Amino acid sequence: MTKQEADWARLGYEVDAASEHEAAGSRYALLRNDSGDGLLVTGDAARRFTPAAADLDGREAASPWCVAALTPETAELLMQAFPWTRPVRRDQRRFSYGMGDRIDCATPAQLEAIASYPVFPIFAQQSIRELQLTRRSFPDVIAAAAFAVFAADYREGYGADGDHLKTLSEIDLALDAGCTMITLDCSERIDTTIAGLDRDARRQRWQKLPEDVRRHYLDNYADRDYPFIGHIPRSEVERIVLVFHRAIDLAQEAWEHIRKRGCEVDFELSIDETVQATTPLEHYLIARETSRRGVRLSTVAPHFSGEFEKGLDYIGDTATFRRELESHQAIAEILGYRLSLHSGSDKFRVFPHFGAVTSQAAHVKTAGTNWLEALRVVAVCDPALFRRSLEYAITARPEAERYYRVTSRVEEIPVLSEVADDDLAALVDAPASRQTLHITYGQLLHEPWFRVPFFSLLRREAGHYTTFLTRHTRRHLDALGLRRS
Ligand code: ZN
Repeated sequence: MTKQEADWARLGYEVDAASEHEAAGSRYALLRNDSGDGLLVTGDAARRFTPAAADLDGREAASPWCVAALTPETAELLMQAFPWTRPVRRDQRRFSYGMGDRIDCATPAQLEAIASYPVFPIFAQQSIRELQLTRRSFPDVIAAAAFAVFAADYREGYGADGDHLKTLSEIDLALDAGCTMITLDCSERIDTTIAGLDRDARRQRWQKLPEDVRRHYLDNYADRDYPFIGHIPRSEVERIVLVFHRAIDLAQEAWEHIRKRGCEVDFELSIDETVQATTPLEHYLIARETSRRGVRLSTVAPHFSGEFEKGLDYIGDTATFRRELESHQAIAEILGYRLSLHSGSDKFRVFPHFGAVTSQAAHVKTAGTNWLEALRVVAVCDPALFRRSLEYAITARPEAERYYRVTSRVEEIPVLSEVADDDLAALVDAPASRQTLHITYGQLLHEPWFRVPFFSLLRREAGHYTTFLTRHTRRHLDALGLRRS
């Protein structure tokens, strides 16, 4: 141990030897500390970093050093020194997997989980809603992923997804932070009132559309024959245009905005947040028109029929799912992009179909998994904290239901005083308690009585967490038919 290392040890820091890297004559390593980690930089580069505290500043020393806090500013300097820690686009890789990390510490375990699977990981993946609920920003999320990738020496590349963005200003937030994937959520531009109109009312609405819009769609789509799709009747064109034309316009605006900023991203068009399942005709018309306007689609997320509820397996008829999926896949192949499946956590019943029909050239988004597996660590290692968390989650659930649709009922959760400690982990799996814990992450993470012991437990029990998360993630990847090399 050098004298400096002895000093850091006295301050409670331990050098994570596995994370040591060198660039341009300076050395970088993560320092672990019970109350938070830091980045140790020794050599000339230390002068560029901001020390986390006065006693962590050795920038004026003969051999300069500095311990910086793990902030977005530190991450930016790290990414400059080690470009492979910066998020990138998917490029040619066939299967991409969105994981997200709502707790800023899941990525090390996720790296372990995907090891040797043919997966392009999206470690940073947050919607604006998730950012608000966890009180973080896109730069925070990307920084957490960059530090984890650095520590693990993972150089295969990972993506950062600005998920479910609805406006150009939300897209700007994601691009400013360096997101490499943009998921455009068109839900606010989809007219859900059209479905309830009778023929005459619809006709009237159609007549109110600008003449050039009507002409354009009728000339290009009505009563024509398309490969695979066949004939699109005029009435169907009118209905689809009424529901989706503003969504199509938004896709074009968003794409042109991104291009004008000079950004290259994987662009996903998400039309999954509609009332009804997306029909093949809808999918085809929307995607073809979007592409025709110059939008380069990387993935499209249709709304598949059946229920994709948080924390539960797929509810619905898998034969119907597969039949629809085959149509959507055929369209995606004709138009040249991949399909994307949202709310993918725990959807084991449909994964074999999704993997087979897409030949694993697709995108799957999951998110809640890493949070729930962290709660499993709590259930196993700190039963008292788990009990208190679940009690709290039950009372917090009505508020969370404003954001997430769940159908399980809190009455199905057993009286906790009658559950033995050894049986608590089963509550992470039982539908009602699982959904309740799943959707209340924002509120729980905001409570100091939860946060502090929760994060220190995860640090202490990192081995448990990695084991649980790896097992659960690999169940997903295996069901999708991905094979480890
Ligand atoms: Zn979605």
